[in-house]
Amino acid sequence: MATFETEAIVLKQFDLGESDRLITLYTKENGKVKAVARGARKGNKSRSGLVLPFSHHHFTLYKGRSLAKINHIESIAMNSKLREDLDYMAHASVAAEYIERAGLEFEADQALFSLLAVILEYMNKAEKNELLFYLTVFEAKLLLLLGVKPEIESCTVCGEKINLKGFTAVGVKEGGSICRECLSKAEFDYSDFSLNQMRALYKIIFAKITILKAKQFSEPLTNKLMELTENFLAYHLDLNPKSLSFLYTLRNMNS
Ligand SMILES: [Zn+2]
Repeated sequence: MATFETEAIVLKQFDLGESDRLITLYTKENGKVKAVARGARKGNKSRSGLVLPFSHHHFTLYKGRSLAKINHIESIAMNSKLREDLDYMAHASVAAEYIERAGLEFEADQALFSLLAVILEYMNKAEKNELLFYLTVFEAKLLLLLGVKPEIESCTVCGEKINLKGFTAVGVKEGGSICRECLSKAEFDYSDFSLNQMRALYKIIFAKITILKAKQFSEPLTNKLMELTENFLAYHLDLNPKSLSFLYTLRNMNS
């Protein structure tokens, strides 16, 4: 079997025996890859000690029969803050787990890889009160990449153009906006979004991450958008990261 080179982010790791680690990577060129880091627990002598969750490296991997082996590592970003602080770790864990669940083994998705790399970089340099915003942006972009973005401008039931003035009903099951006419004819589960909230939803899905500023999104607005993106990911793609419950426990303790 061959060796191959790829950029990758460490999604998670497990101790394996006395000195090795089993690592799940999300690679740029090969999708999800499971690898063994030999001697990773023996300290700094080996560069495989660098292979920690949320870190980003250039790898040379040897493709074994079941697991890949790490031949060489060049670090790109250690993202250390994401491991040193519980709040940072909780938010980064959710993003990593979404990718672990959505990514396919040995099937490249460079857009998914870039989204994870960029969001971890932003989280690593964010203020603590901006972490939730970046996780919400990540979830909104994930919806777009995985093809289940909310329909905003047309009614998901009848197809008519939506008048976004006042409040718009948004249904998770329907996949987006529901017009007043349709609302009056049948029962739906939905949340009301004001014009500003609809604009914010549109923005976090479609605007470039570089122009999105946490300050422009209040905490209640971010919470509302996050609830919607999470419900969309859970309902339409069956993505329910376990690490979300840890994040919610932590947030309740902090509030
Ligand atoms: Zn309608």
